[in-house]
Amino acid sequence: MIYIIGTGPGLEEYMSLRAIDAINDSDIIIGYKTYIDQIKNLVKNKEIYSAGMKREIDRCTKALEYALEGKKVGLVSGGDAGVYGMAGIMYEIALEHLDKISIEVIPGITAANAAASSLGAPIMHDYAVISLSDLLTEWSLIEKRLNCAGQGDFVVTLYNPKSHGRKEHIEKARDILLKYKEKNTPVGIVRNAKREKEEMEITTLEKMCDSEINMSTMVIIGNSKTYVAEGKIITPRGYRYWY
Ligand code: SAH
Repeated sequence: MIYIIGTGPGLEEYMSLRAIDAINDSDIIIGYKTYIDQIKNLVKNKEIYSAGMKREIDRCTKALEYALEGKKVGLVSGGDAGVYGMAGIMYEIALEHLDKISIEVIPGITAANAAASSLGAPIMHDYAVISLSDLLTEWSLIEKRLNCAGQGDFVVTLYNPKSHGRKEHIEKARDILLKYKEKNTPVGIVRNAKREKEEMEITTLEKMCDSEINMSTMVIIGNSKTYVAEGKIITPRGYRYWY
């Protein structure tokens, strides 16, 4: 049995009851150290296998090995495991063994939703989810998707805004979106959403790169109807009936 557990943005109270049950039911917990640390109170008495950031394949192979031995494995992944997380790769590695083991994916609150809730209601209308990391995706495709999202007047949520420390990605993303969106389009920047040290700024598309944007940051860029009021970002829903 492999539980693929989305542990949410950070604070324990943002985990689902099902995720907590699955952790309790697991014989061994596998995950990236940062995420294990986040749930340390829940895994005190558990056997733990933790490998570094770029060792996803290693972690999944281990999870499969333990599951084939008959152990219940809890593979933890921050946010939602199915959003730039471990669910896809775990399935790919286990595909030929699904007659012998079962897999359950347990959803978690993803960073976009965690950050949006802190900012107000910025993703009330159609939104695009784009990662600026070009580790596994060619940059030209990322640019194409940014262009399409801009053209479609989507609210845009950016994951991995500063991938491996490269500043130019977020600047290029800003420049592409500026072709379609107004300079003063509201932008919400949330660092460590729903973690103890959450920090938040509301700025504009033109100025967003002046804010600190690191690897624990979500950037949410509004659509043409998004506005700021009382310190909150609001994207209206149902333009047709209300405006
Ligand atoms: N599976 C995760 C995303 C992994 S990609 C999820 O569903 O949330 C890693 C990126 O997610 C980070 O670079 C950052 O952009 C974003 N992220 C994850 N947790 C975050 C948090 N608590 N606050 C802000 N951004 C976060």
